[in-house]
Amino acid sequence: MHVKFILPSLTEAKSPYWRPIKYSLFPPLGLATLAAYLRDDDIPTITDEHVEEVNLDDEPDLVIIQVYITNAYRAYEIADHYRAKGIYVALGGLHVTSLPFEAAQHADTIAIGPGEHTFPEFIQDFRKGNPKPVYRSGVRTLVGVPPIRRDLIKRHLYLVPNSIVVTRGCPFHCSFCYKDAFFEGGKSFYTQVVDDALAEIDRLPGKHLYFLDDHLLGNTKFASALFEGMKGMNRVFQGAATIDSILRGNLIEKAAEAGLRSLFVGFETLNPESLKHGNKKQNLGKDYDKAIARLDDLGIMINGSFVFGLDDDAPDVFKRTVDWGVSKGITTSTYHILTPYPGTQLFKEMEQAGRILHRQWDLYDTRHVVYRTQKLDAQTLKEGYDWAYKEFYKWSNIYKASRQHQQIKHQLKHFAYAGGWKKFEPLWNFIIKSRNLNNMLPVLEAILSKVNYKKETNSIPEKIPTAKPATSPKINA
Ligand code: SF4
Repeated sequence: MHVKFILPSLTEAKSPYWRPIKYSLFPPLGLATLAAYLRDDDIPTITDEHVEEVNLDDEPDLVIIQVYITNAYRAYEIADHYRAKGIYVALGGLHVTSLPFEAAQHADTIAIGPGEHTFPEFIQDFRKGNPKPVYRSGVRTLVGVPPIRRDLIKRHLYLVPNSIVVTRGCPFHCSFCYKDAFFEGGKSFYTQVVDDALAEIDRLPGKHLYFLDDHLLGNTKFASALFEGMKGMNRVFQGAATIDSILRGNLIEKAAEAGLRSLFVGFETLNPESLKHGNKKQNLGKDYDKAIARLDDLGIMINGSFVFGLDDDAPDVFKRTVDWGVSKGITTSTYHILTPYPGTQLFKEMEQAGRILHRQWDLYDTRHVVYRTQKLDAQTLKEGYDWAYKEFYKWSNIYKASRQHQQIKHQLKHFAYAGGWKKFEPLWNFIIKSRNLNNMLPVLEAILSKVNYKKETNSIPEKIPTAKPATSPKINA
C-alpha cells in the first residue's frame, strides 16, 4: 500500500517575508512518527512542501496530511485534489483538532489530538475497509512507540537533520497557546522512557541535535536523567525551556554539561499584568536577570520570544522590549503579534467580546493583526512589530548585545550566530537552492562550540565593525 504523507507549506511560502532558511532548519517529525506504524510491505513517502515540490499527479492508495492554521487552505486544496481523484484522504494536526467540522469537509477521516494512538487504529480499520470518519486521541503515553521512520526524511534538505522530540506537550497553560486544546481529553504533558530517549539519541549520526520539545526541562526528573545519560555522548544541542526551569535547582547546569548551547526562552512580555492576563504563571515574579545571568555563565545563547499587542501594551512597548533584549545580551529575538488561535482560551474570550476581526486563517501567522486591539491601534502594532525586528537586528545592536557577555568567545559566537541568522539571506537562499545546506552544519557546530566557564577579561574591540551586510536584511523571523 502506497501511503503518501504530506506537510503542506505554510502560506508564508508565497509571501515576500518568506525566509527559506527558517523552514529548512530541521525536519518536522510528526509524519515520520506516524509512518512507523505501517507494515514492512507498505510503501510510505513523506513530502515536506517547505523544502520540496509536491507531486500531485500520482495515485497513492492513501493520503495523510498534517494541517496547521496557516497551511490549512493549502492542505484543503491538496486534500480536495486527491479526493476528486477518488483517493482516500485523512487529515490531522493542530488545526484539525481546533476546528474539526471545518476540516471534515475536506477529508474522509479526521484525527483529533496527538496521533500516536489514533493513527494505528485508523490504519487497521482502513485495511479492513471500514475506517471511521473521526478518531479522537484518548490514550496518552510514549511507552512502546516504535522508532521514528527517519529513513523517510530527506536529511540533505535541512541544516540540522537531527531533530528529536522526547516529550509531548507542556506542564503549563498559557491562555494564548494551542497546547490545551490539542491535548484536551487526556494528559497534556508526558515524556518518553529515559532509556528510549537515550537510545534514539544514540541512533542519530553526527553531533548536533535540535530538540523540538515545547519544554525540554518541563519534567525535572526526566530531564535530569536524560542529561546525565547524555554526558560523554559528545553532542551539542538546542532546545526550549521556561524561565522557572532555568532558575530551578541545577538542571540547567546539567543540560549545559550534556551539550546545551542555545535555548529558546518565552519571556513574552516585560509587563507582569500581561503575564497574569496570559496565565503565564511560570514567569510571574521570576527574576529574568538572574535567569539570563545563569545562562550567560554557562555560555548558553538565548533566543528570546516576545509578544506584542497584549491588552496592557502601549506604544512604548516596542522600544522598551528591543532595548531590554539588547541590553541583556539576548542573541536572537523572535517577535510575534498576539494571535488568538481558534480553540484557545484567548480566542474564546476575544470572540465573546466581539474582538475577532475575521477568520482568514492564513493571516493568523503572528505577523498580522487579526483582533480588535485596546491601547494600541492596529497600524501602530503592525508598524511597531516590523520596526522591532529591524531595530534588534541592526549591526550596531547585534554588536552592542554581543558585548554584554563576559567571555570573548561568547561575544564572538553571539555576533556570528545573530549576524548569520538574519543578515545573509541571499547566501542562505543560494545554499538551499544548490542543495548544499547540510554542508553548513560544521559551521553552525563551530559557532555552538562550548564556552569555557572560566571568566575572561578580554573582549572584542570597542570599535563597531565596519563590515556591512552583504544584502538588505529581511525583517521577519
Ligand atoms: S509555556 Fe509555552 S508551550 Fe507551555 S503552555 Fe505556555 S506557551 Fe504553551
